[in-house]
Amino acid sequence: MKKGIEGILSKLDDRDWFECLLEEAFKKSKEIAKIKHPNKAIDYFYASWAGDCVRQIQYSMNGMMPEDGDPQGQRRMDNGNYVHNRYGEYFKLTGKLVEAEPPFKKVMDGVLVSGRGDFIVLKVEDTKVLIELKSINSKGFQNVLTTPLEGDYLQWNLCAKALDFKDGIVLYENKDNQDEKHHFVTFNEDEYKRVINDFILIDKHNKAGTLVPKPEICVSPKWCSARGFCK
Ligand code: SF4
Repeated sequence: MKKGIEGILSKLDDRDWFECLLEEAFKKSKEIAKIKHPNKAIDYFYASWAGDCVRQIQYSMNGMMPEDGDPQGQRRMDNGNYVHNRYGEYFKLTGKLVEAEPPFKKVMDGVLVSGRGDFIVLKVEDTKVLIELKSINSKGFQNVLTTPLEGDYLQWNLCAKALDFKDGIVLYENKDNQDEKHHFVTFNEDEYKRVINDFILIDKHNKAGTLVPKPEICVSPKWCSARGFCK
């Protein structure tokens, strides 16, 4: 029966065969992304959440964020991921790549944090630095010419704490023209505390079954996918 309906629908479809093929390919890649990153409740924090809205983090870790069904958004994310493969290859060619995507999952000040650095490279013999790589559009690139974005630094800083680094680099590539900009950064304990204290607060509210107080200013009133139900 289902096959019959599919046959009728396909006859009504006036798209060319290649549009159908692309749709199928994008649909499959979305399905694989969903399997890799299911929208489910978790009891740990991702390092990439450093500096994000506390409510957004709480919704995410409780599997409450609405699914993003936009295939173009998925392609954008995939593109960002492939930048990491490319830079991994570049660093490998220099012979100074120590490790790509060093992972960690550890209890930090009482809460479980999971993440990955991007690259560890050798500066000189015995001195290693941790690199955080971000791909950014031309408009955003203008905002990172003098300093890294706060959230990007906070993520690097949290990974640096977890992986025991004092020095590193936040590296940007402009996704529109492959221009590059990098900033040397150092570990800051106060900034780490700011991030981990947010995680500790969320953890307490999760355990009590209560909502963490909504920030006075919503940082993403237009784009946050929780804006429809966040009160
Ligand atoms: S709508 Fe605003 S306050 Fe609510 S989770 Fe999103 S960013 Fe945070």
